[in-house]
Amino acid sequence: MPPNLEIAVRLGCFAAVFTAMALWEWFAPRRRLTAGRWPRWPGNLGILAIDIIAVRLLVPTAAVGMALIAAAHGWGLFNLLAPPAWAAIVAGVVALDFVIYSQHVVFHHVPVLWRLHRMHHADLDIDVTTGVRFHPLEILLSLAIKMAAVLALGVPALAVLIFEVLLNATSMFNHSNVALPPRLEAIARWIVVTPQMHQVHHSIERAETDSNFGFNLPWWDRLFGTYRAKPTAGEQGMTIGLPIFRDVAELAIVRLLTQPFRKER
Ligand SMILES: [Zn+2]
Ligand SMILES: [Zn+2]
Repeated sequence: MPPNLEIAVRLGCFAAVFTAMALWEWFAPRRRLTAGRWPRWPGNLGILAIDIIAVRLLVPTAAVGMALIAAAHGWGLFNLLAPPAWAAIVAGVVALDFVIYSQHVVFHHVPVLWRLHRMHHADLDIDVTTGVRFHPLEILLSLAIKMAAVLALGVPALAVLIFEVLLNATSMFNHSNVALPPRLEAIARWIVVTPQMHQVHHSIERAETDSNFGFNLPWWDRLFGTYRAKPTAGEQGMTIGLPIFRDVAELAIVRLLTQPFRKER
């Protein structure tokens, strides 16, 4: 795929899903926002801009480039086994989703990694912009992990691109302040991580924070016992965020960047 087309696909999907979710949550919000949009959006979107610049500057070829290198040299499991292209693409996307689930669990349980990841959790509300609010160091580290997985598995470049576009879209979807109709929600959460499912993960209660780690596929949580149907305090009553960093001043971009390096108070 020509690089310009690749960028157009990424940007087009991002813009379409962002706009759709922002409109949906504007007209039919699931919860009343506590901090609101104005104090949060500049910081969250500023972090997105920094993440994009950091990745483009430091690792311009990124995971797709790694997939092309692996394919050219015949490295990695799929390149050795040489399954049909469609099977390698499907298996590659599912495998990368399992990798990111596992990585997410590890980031919650290893203190130094939690320091990076907790910035995502410190948002006082969750909406479409929370889905792109990840510390640049976490983004770079997870890119390194993904590149290692792509190399070891020999994931096809197209599968990497599909996975990345999908992850970006589902992350914005499942952080959105929207609700599916109840009957659709019951079915949908067997297929994809829904906003109501991921809301539990943003609870201030640690046991609830440490549940529903999935981003795309909900199966890993069901399989490994980390699935939690709803928060104890109820969907409307639960508090979003962490016990630390509750000051509205923490929503400013400089504070977001320094959160990993500050002591818990
Ligand atoms: Zn998390
Ligand atoms: Zn989240």
